Amino acid sequence: MGEEQIRAALAEATDTQDVVVGPGALGEVAEVAGRRFGGRPLLVVADATTWRVAGEQVQRRLEAAGLATEAPYRFPPDTFVLADYTSVERLRDAIAGHDAVPVAVGSGSLNDIVKRAAHETGRPYLVVATAASMDGYTAFGAAITRDGYKQTMTCPAPRAVVADLEVLAGAPPDMTASGYGDLLGKVTAGADWLVADALGVEPVDPGAWELAQGPLREAIGRPRELAGGDRDALGRLVEGLVLSGLAMQAHASSRPASGAEHQFSHLWEMEGLGHDRRPPLSHGFKVGLGTVAVAALYERVLERDLTALDVEAQCRAWPGPEEAEAAVRAAHATPGLAEAAVAETMAKHADAGILRRRLELLADRWPALRDRLATQLLPAERLRDMLRAAGCPTSAPEIGLSWPAFRDTYHRARMIRRRYTVLDLAAETGTFGELVDELFTPGGFWAGEATA
Ligand SMILES: [Zn+2]
Repeated sequence: MGEEQIRAALAEATDTQDVVVGPGALGEVAEVAGRRFGGRPLLVVADATTWRVAGEQVQRRLEAAGLATEAPYRFPPDTFVLADYTSVERLRDAIAGHDAVPVAVGSGSLNDIVKRAAHETGRPYLVVATAASMDGYTAFGAAITRDGYKQTMTCPAPRAVVADLEVLAGAPPDMTASGYGDLLGKVTAGADWLVADALGVEPVDPGAWELAQGPLREAIGRPRELAGGDRDALGRLVEGLVLSGLAMQAHASSRPASGAEHQFSHLWEMEGLGHDRRPPLSHGFKVGLGTVAVAALYERVLERDLTALDVEAQCRAWPGPEEAEAAVRAAHATPGLAEAAVAETMAKHADAGILRRRLELLADRWPALRDRLATQLLPAERLRDMLRAAGCPTSAPEIGLSWPAFRDTYHRARMIRRRYTVLDLAAETGTFGELVDELFTPGGFWAGEATA
């Protein structure tokens, strides 16, 4: 099933032409490279670990097939704590002397660095996945830290992806769990897109929606088996991640795969949470916890009758631009981040006229929207159990965050991205404060843990 979906998605994809997923897929790397890059020379890019688990074999296979190669580029140890722009520049300068096509052998940060460096030198590239740790393999754009600020830098997705399940199965269990956390985020990301669609902010693109949401339930359905090393469960996860990336590629935006749960994750990332750990706290672990947090908020939202809002009173109470900017600055002290958050918040800040029309639309559409959201979402409790079964952290202290800081994230995360999510819905309906209070007061979702 997954293979057919991938093939259909590739027919629509703008950058990626080949995705080979399966046990032993590494055996096809030379064929794929030959097919996609003609006679161009190739350059294997790896770090010490990925060289050992796959890079050396890739190099050997390319040579054995008679393809021209440059001497492999090996990153020094510990380059990937942060995918920083310095690493991009270093690789770019190193490959400027020839015109070989990079063959990235690695996962998240390594792939992002190569993706951007290939773009800056005007070359396509191929990635050989070494862990099912995130959905960025088939996505356009690279998450790179520059001047202390993590941003998505523009660049095309790889021309081809090779994901050998034997290699991925050998990755550290935390990396597979991270991929699971990242994929689980599509549950709330989808819900946020439905909200934005219903309110006329951002319409759902049915094709991209189907890519991200179609395989989702099956791909997240067996966390315990996944953690136990089940190959079929791993295969489903990889397909889900690949299709999620292709959804972003098809939509030329991360909207199909990223909502408020990623805003939680991005805020923590930009504030350096867990960067001092070895390995650093992963993207997927943060997204997973963000997913539970956002699903818990949705549960409170769905209990409300948003057809009965006092629209006039809400429009009167709604902050103007100066007040909104002051609120962002009060919530964000990190230099760089504060400026970026102001720009992002102001880009989506509704004036009173827009707010009025939106709330009237909401009153009209809420019953149907609520039903769609209830179908899309899973209970927060269930999501937490699934995450735990997959081996992911499920509480603030586990990721090194105090409960008060975690609670603050609900408000602060909304400000760092212009994307419209349930956090904006809560703010614009004037219910945000009450909803978050409900989560942390006795009987609320986080109450037991947060006060223990
Ligand atoms: Zn993600």
